[in-house]
Amino acid sequence: MSRVKLDLIVKNIEYVNIMCYNLLWRNKMGIIELDNGYYIELIEDGKCKDDRIQNIQTIKLRESRNKGCLLLYIDFREFDKDRYKKILRKLLHIKKMVKFLKINIGVNQDSKIKIGYINNYDENNQYHQEFIQAINAILFNTKKERYNYIYDTVCNYLDGYFYGKNLCDFKNNQCGEKRGTTSRIGCCHHFRVKWLGPFTELVPCEHLKDDYTCGAKCISCKLFTCDYLEKKGVKFRIKDILLLDTFFNSLQKYFIKYMVFTPKDKIIKRLMITGA
Ligand code: SF4
Ligand code: SF4
Repeated sequence: MSRVKLDLIVKNIEYVNIMCYNLLWRNKMGIIELDNGYYIELIEDGKCKDDRIQNIQTIKLRESRNKGCLLLYIDFREFDKDRYKKILRKLLHIKKMVKFLKINIGVNQDSKIKIGYINNYDENNQYHQEFIQAINAILFNTKKERYNYIYDTVCNYLDGYFYGKNLCDFKNNQCGEKRGTTSRIGCCHHFRVKWLGPFTELVPCEHLKDDYTCGAKCISCKLFTCDYLEKKGVKFRIKDILLLDTFFNSLQKYFIKYMVFTPKDKIIKRLMITGA
């Protein structure tokens, strides 16, 4: 969604449903539901009697083989967010190996698959949520599914961050950065070279629809913050977004940052070609 449309929504309705970054669903049974039929059981004070578990920090393939499955134990008090990326990258590698060695991931329970236990989880802690989302990403079967999930989750987060706040300070459809100019479409325009003559002209982005929504779902545009926003302290860095920082290499991060004005399918295609 373009930020122009975000402003129109804010102005035109009284109550808004703010999109929430927390896409994880914790139910009354004390579990966190993930995609693809997986779930994690929540425990307190380390009360876990299951002897098949392995601490997520010290998983050994031989032990998984002996136990017949890979069942995780995650205690958020045992490691801080500086270690998340390393632990998750190792888990992605192990997941590929257990699949290759035909070791089960998790255990079947009530027609779902329990992939482990979590201790000391705080559902209001954004870092905990991001860590679980990253585990969810790892459990997708293909790289394409994983990339799609990461892409949509981060886009939802970025939309949700702006929703209802009018951070761009739109007034009469003119944003703070463009105040005093004739621009009525925020930053949804770019220069195009004229066919005749050496000059360029400023034209609206071809993905901006008549109702001022964006038809492209472009993650690079959503990450973009102009000087006006940065002066207000709004800036997104890829290295601060765990899903992007963990699962993409430097070249992919470059494309995520700079492929503005580009539809999602083209960006995903580029990520697929440049990812391991
Ligand atoms: S130019 Fe800046 S203030 Fe204007 S819509 Fe874009 S990000 Fe918002
Ligand atoms: S793709 Fe075009 S319409 Fe969509 S946010 Fe980017 S500039 Fe705006």
